[in-house]
Amino acid sequence: MTTKNGVPDKAVSSDDSNLDVSVEKVNLLGMSEEKLTAFFESLGEKRFRVKQVMQWMHQRGVIDFDAMSDLSKVLRAKLATVAEINLPELVSEQTSEDGTRKWLVRVAGGSCIETVFIPEGKRGTLCVSSQIGCSLDCSFCATGKQGFNRDLSAAEIIGQLWIAAKSLDSLDPTKDRVISNVVLMGMGEPLLNFDNVVDAMNLMMHDCAYGLSKRRVTLSTAGVVPALDKLGDVTDVSLAISLHAPNDELRNQLVPLNRKYPIAELLRSARGYLEKLPDKRRKITLEYTLIREINDRPEHARELAALLVDTPCKINLIPFNPFDQSDYQRVSNNALYRFRDILIEAGYTVTLRTTRGDDIDAACGQLAGQVNDRTKRSQRYRQQQDQGLEAVRIIPG
Ligand code: SAH
Repeated sequence: MTTKNGVPDKAVSSDDSNLDVSVEKVNLLGMSEEKLTAFFESLGEKRFRVKQVMQWMHQRGVIDFDAMSDLSKVLRAKLATVAEINLPELVSEQTSEDGTRKWLVRVAGGSCIETVFIPEGKRGTLCVSSQIGCSLDCSFCATGKQGFNRDLSAAEIIGQLWIAAKSLDSLDPTKDRVISNVVLMGMGEPLLNFDNVVDAMNLMMHDCAYGLSKRRVTLSTAGVVPALDKLGDVTDVSLAISLHAPNDELRNQLVPLNRKYPIAELLRSARGYLEKLPDKRRKITLEYTLIREINDRPEHARELAALLVDTPCKINLIPFNPFDQSDYQRVSNNALYRFRDILIEAGYTVTLRTTRGDDIDAACGQLAGQVNDRTKRSQRYRQQQDQGLEAVRIIPG
């Protein structure tokens, strides 16, 4: 039996050996330092044990208490009765021609989520999922078409990093920092799973866990404004905003969440996040997926340049990655470079996200996993397709 914080209410021992006392074990994997401290204190153990156990779990990848040789035998036995280090199950692993890797991971309940690793020179970026499917249903994203099942627990989020680190280590044990960056840009909307995402990000940055700097952990959001307003009170990770359109009319069609939280409110909230950070030089990354003849025209670029004048940002242009249930097309190279040049001339720093891993469906927006959809949305999309209707068509404005 556990309390809300995962701290056991009672120990397992029983005087009556005939009684089958089965106690739900506490999963330590996703616990923040504070939660682990409360847990160890409830066992009557010293605080320094927390750091030891964190290092075993996250840095050495050890999940068997018995192998934690600097803990006393008594503590190891006690932990084995009340706790566990429970990872999601690795189902399959694929490597793209360009070195991108994708892991399919099964979580409790049977759905599968996807995690992607993108090596770029000395950098290696891991893209992790925060939910099973996504409730936002952006018109250009494959994840949304799968519907939604549930939030991932902090253990399931950090477990993706654990699995990837272990798998990459086993490939090349000579490299010590294979994963240099983590982006929450996989399946799901991280700000709709606020507490678990914050706990997992804190583990990513913790010295006794993965030790990444705040600049190397990026949360990407489609713009859940009330949650974004709170984010700066609890973390200082890098922030990316999925904008994709320079005005509300177009954004309403691409990102339905915009009808609730329009662009002006979103940018105000994003600037508010930056204002809470002590380092005043930090910028937001604005993500803009370029879709042929939808949002890729020179006037869109000029409108975007004007819109962002007061927002300290750099702009990341992402060519749309096609997938089965979508009629949208990738931007042409001409339109892409024209769009970029207008922004550069207006004084912005612009990066182009090259398409990686699309041969294994690992590129942005192609992550689909296997979602046990509770929303019936995936079923509706399939029906529309079967009837030959265009499932996700937006008439260029
Ligand atoms: N829900 C979060 C994080 C997941 S999406 C968010 O919206 O930011 C990660 C990025 O990939 C987002 O910018 C998203 O808009 C973009 N993306 C989604 N589908 C895409 C596609 N088919 N092609 C290119 N980029 C896509």
